[in-house]
Amino acid sequence: MALIVQKYGGTSVGSPDRIKNVARRVAQYHSRGDQVVVVVSAMSGVTDNLIKLAKEIMPLPNEREMDVLLATGEQTTIALTAIALHSLGVPAASLTGAQAGIVTDGVHTKAKIQNITPKKIHDLLNQGQVVIVAGFQGQTIEGQVTTLGRGGSDLTAIALAAALKAQLCQIYTDVDGVYTADPRIVPGAKKLDEISYDEMLELASLGAKVMQSRSVEFAKKFGVIFEVRSSLNDNPGTIVKEETRNMEEVVVRGVSLDKNQAKVTLVAVPDKPGIAARIFKAIGDSNINVDMIVQNISHGSGAPATDLSFTIDKPELLKAQKVIDSLKKEVGFGQVIATENIAKLSIVGVGMKSHSGVAGKMFDILAREGINIHMISTSEIKISVVIDLAKGEQAMKTVHQAFLG
Ligand code: ASP
Ligand code: MG
Repeated sequence: MALIVQKYGGTSVGSPDRIKNVARRVAQYHSRGDQVVVVVSAMSGVTDNLIKLAKEIMPLPNEREMDVLLATGEQTTIALTAIALHSLGVPAASLTGAQAGIVTDGVHTKAKIQNITPKKIHDLLNQGQVVIVAGFQGQTIEGQVTTLGRGGSDLTAIALAAALKAQLCQIYTDVDGVYTADPRIVPGAKKLDEISYDEMLELASLGAKVMQSRSVEFAKKFGVIFEVRSSLNDNPGTIVKEETRNMEEVVVRGVSLDKNQAKVTLVAVPDKPGIAARIFKAIGDSNINVDMIVQNISHGSGAPATDLSFTIDKPELLKAQKVIDSLKKEVGFGQVIATENIAKLSIVGVGMKSHSGVAGKMFDILAREGINIHMISTSEIKISVVIDLAKGEQAMKTVHQAFLG
């Protein structure tokens, strides 16, 4: 007998039939004698739709009220899932985040979990019930409804697995697990049996959106081993855990492509102390996330000047251009070149720590394809390049073939 936390995402509970399918799965574990805690998301599209409704009334709705609104999505699913289990004769009870004892801070729409008191969950499990918990939501100590940020049901599941010391934590989704690349772009992509937290984090933040990044960080911090798998078949999924020595034998675990970035270049920026600080402070103050930054060496014969390029999320480009324009007089740079037609291609693997020549190999593959590299950035387990958007998918296929083919 094991205590299992299972999380089902929006597509896995996207219709009454899908909810019945979830109930059948849960019933199997329950009939084995396992204690099952089920965390569910809102049915697919529901959260987006609630946000749309609110914005039709007012462009910037109050965040406390947004939490009250969005929490209804998951509340619908917990009740329907309990009803589906009852229809199979399985005893089950639904709990909202607050009822499940999930206490958060008061930062509406992106609250952090502060602690979990799972007494009610244990009581129900001990009565032989399946417990169904609403993902993505909690409550402040003052009793205000909060939500945990988009994709937050993953976090609910991981945090509950930690608090309940679950033997198994399964994240059910509509793909078979984590792949070496997006299979829609790279047909030869392979499902991974296992991946380390750090690799998963890099791949997630690089645009391979399988799970909410915060939930993976949480799992790493508390050592929660979990499995990402499909709710639509019985194939084993991908185990996510702390890296082991044999994981380092694989140099590249996965390749990802982020098409959601834009690049800004400031030409002839005065090369003296405090300039970069001034520019990036202004951008940071406007809540624009900067990813890569590249600064060239000084050039020209007059006052020393340098070119400065950086990347940001595409939807922030207009906002960034405004901030830059407002600095032009004060900082005194030349032309500003902005483009949305870029993609960031990355290779990720803990094996890079102990293997050399990986960057050279990647650049060589791109060169043979005639693909120009605009920017490069590296970490211990990742190499990213910015290239033309139009060449992005071709580059991804070739690099995948060379390292993982
Ligand atoms: N329903 C929320 C969202 O769509 C939370 C989740 O699905 O994990 O972001
Ligand atoms: Mg999700």
